Amino acid sequence: MRILIVEDELDLNMVLSEMLTIEGYYVDSSYDGTDGLDNALSGIYDMIILDVMLPEKNGIEVLSEIRKNKINTPVLMLTAKSEIEDKIAGLDNGADDYLTKPFNSKELLARIRALLRRREKILINENLKFADIMIDKTTHEIYKKDQKIKLTKKEYDIMELLILNQGKVVSKDDLTVRIWGFNTDIEYNSIEVYISFLRKKLRAIDSSICISAIRGYGYIIKEQNDV
Ligand code: CA
Repeated sequence: MRILIVEDELDLNMVLSEMLTIEGYYVDSSYDGTDGLDNALSGIYDMIILDVMLPEKNGIEVLSEIRKNKINTPVLMLTAKSEIEDKIAGLDNGADDYLTKPFNSKELLARIRALLRRREKILINENLKFADIMIDKTTHEIYKKDQKIKLTKKEYDIMELLILNQGKVVSKDDLTVRIWGFNTDIEYNSIEVYISFLRKKLRAIDSSICISAIRGYGYIIKEQNDV
């Protein structure tokens, strides 16, 4: 489960990040609204914890941009006690829940679990489709009609990221951070190996999808007949 924390108070961001990492979540942190929005728009998070008072763009603006871009990730807003109006604005803009600062960490974890459970229910039958294939979130299989093939966890994660970003080039840096995290020593060559396995598997089920390399930059997923 990947969680994005958008919070400009360094200490709070760090404490949350450590706590959620210990709970087994994969966590990314943003410290202002612009970076938070960029991260959120990748669509790879299972949940976003979003502070209201943020530099650059405030949490309400970030949230409305997220929803405008059809990203349905559950959002838990953090508001200060005096910001009752923010809560209302947040909920109106598509927040799923909110918590008033200062909050108890157990309460935060309980709210996160509740939101994730709700999301799981929604996602359970929501397989990702692109062109002639579908990928199954639970079994990590890739289907074309009645043909299917199993992907490894990393292959699945890469495929999911490429599909969620269809129409866009995903840079190798983004790919590395999204799939392996910041503290990784994976090399670009290894990413190429994963991509070549994925291409083989796509060919094995006769898919019309191809993963094109944009030299020196990254990858984009397309249908073979698109130019
Ligand atoms: Ca703040």
